[in-house]
Formats: sequence, C-alpha cells, structure tokens
Amino acid sequence: MLKTQLTAFILLGCVLSSGCAINPVTGEKQLMLVSEDWELQVGRQYSPEVEKQLGGRIENWQLQNYINSVGQRIAAVSHLPDLEFHYTALNHESVNAMALPGGYVFITRGMLEKLTSEAQLAGVLAHETAHVTARHAAAAVSSQMGIDLVLSAAGRKTSGGAMDIARLGSGLIGLHYSREQEMQADTYGLDYMVKAGYSPYAMIETIEMLQRQNEMRPIEFFSSHPDPANRKTSITSILEHMSTNVYLPNLNTGEAEYDKFVLANLVD
Ligand SMILES: [Zn+2]
Repeated sequence: MLKTQLTAFILLGCVLSSGCAINPVTGEKQLMLVSEDWELQVGRQYSPEVEKQLGGRIENWQLQNYINSVGQRIAAVSHLPDLEFHYTALNHESVNAMALPGGYVFITRGMLEKLTSEAQLAGVLAHETAHVTARHAAAAVSSQMGIDLVLSAAGRKTSGGAMDIARLGSGLIGLHYSREQEMQADTYGLDYMVKAGYSPYAMIETIEMLQRQNEMRPIEFFSSHPDPANRKTSITSILEHMSTNVYLPNLNTGEAEYDKFVLANLVD
C-alpha cells in the first residue's frame, strides 16, 4: 500500500474509531494516531530502558517513597486521577525530569540536588504530569515520528515489534514538545500544585535555579524547553491571574520535609 493511501486509511480509521480523541485536559478534539492503550504499552515497555539510560533507580526506599507520595498527591488532582502514575528518582547527574506516555515520570539526582523544597519538587512533577495528562508525547509522536513507525509499533505483534518499541523509546527521550505544549504543561502544572496544596511560587524558584545552572545540557528542562527567562515571564503572569482566585500564602512549601527525605538521603 502506498504511504498516501495508508495515511488516508488511518485518517478514515480515526473518524470511525478511536483515532480522534477528546483531550482530557483541553476538552478539545484532536487527531490521535495512537490509542491510550498504546501509550500505556510504550510507557510500561520503555520505562526500564529510560531507567537504564539515566543511571538506574536511586537505591533508597525512603527517598523513592517520598518522591512517589508527592507525585501521587499531584496525580490525584490531575485530569487523569484514575491513571496509575509512577514517580521514580534516577541516579543521574544531569538536571533533568521527563515523562513517558501512560504515567511514567522520572526525576534525576542532579535535579533533586538543586531543589530545596517539597513544593519545588511538586512543581517539577506537576509539569511532567501535565505532559502525560494532556497526551503531549502521543500527539508529538503522531506528528513527528511518522506514520510508518507509529503503525509498526502500534500494530500487530510482528517479530520486529520489540525493536520498534525500542526505536520509538529512544525517539521519546529526545522528543521536543511545542512551545504551546510547554506553556500548557506549566499552566496545568501550576493548577495541579495549588489543588494539591503547594505554593505555585516554588515553580518560579525552580525556573530561577535552571537559569543559574549552566554546566549541563539536560534532556528535558533545557534542551527541549523554552528559554527559562521566557518561562519565568509566562509563569509569573499565570500566577498573577491565579492569585486573585486562590489565597496562596496558606499553601505548603515543605523545606524541612524535603531536607529530611531527599537531601539527607542523597548525602553519601
Ligand atoms: Zn516540559
């Protein structure tokens, strides 16, 4: 079958079946060449590969439980409270966080060492959670990685299936989201923070930290994200609007908890 015919076939399938999805965050219809099951499958199959590439899990159950519990507070107030999210700290020096479709969120030791409060951690996890709930990777994969790859990875169980997932996974690590998607992740991330009881101003502190640190080129927060100065401007304007609706000073920052469960556990 020619590629154009194939494309038409998929688009037709989209109209007739699950290809046109309602975005859980925006409520808008969008073209989705991949299903939610596909997202779960990719997340589940590729998360061990991401862990391996980024130094493996930090072997400290207290730290992992804490990271996961903060993440679960965010997930519970997100647009997909019933999705099973997994929040994992990885033993890599880059200042980085990333999410795989289907609810797999990772944060590196390098990032954890630079943060100073639970609210800052919640902000990073909330931003990544919003990429998942808004199905940004699935949308980006649909448009960037080409129909052939999506088809082969999502399709029948062929002998090349495992390899396709691996190819797809390495594509996901360097995936670039659009400026609009990043803005959406910040906007909904701030919303999740407040709903989970965290001060959203911690997100500004994190952006300022990112501005200060320049020795590494992280996969997510620098190379694929808008310039921190621009992000700070847009986050500040979102917060100004938000502060008229929410009494922000009541919200939690959690320096002592972060110190006890993260920083103290990272000291060798
Ligand atoms: Zn992002």
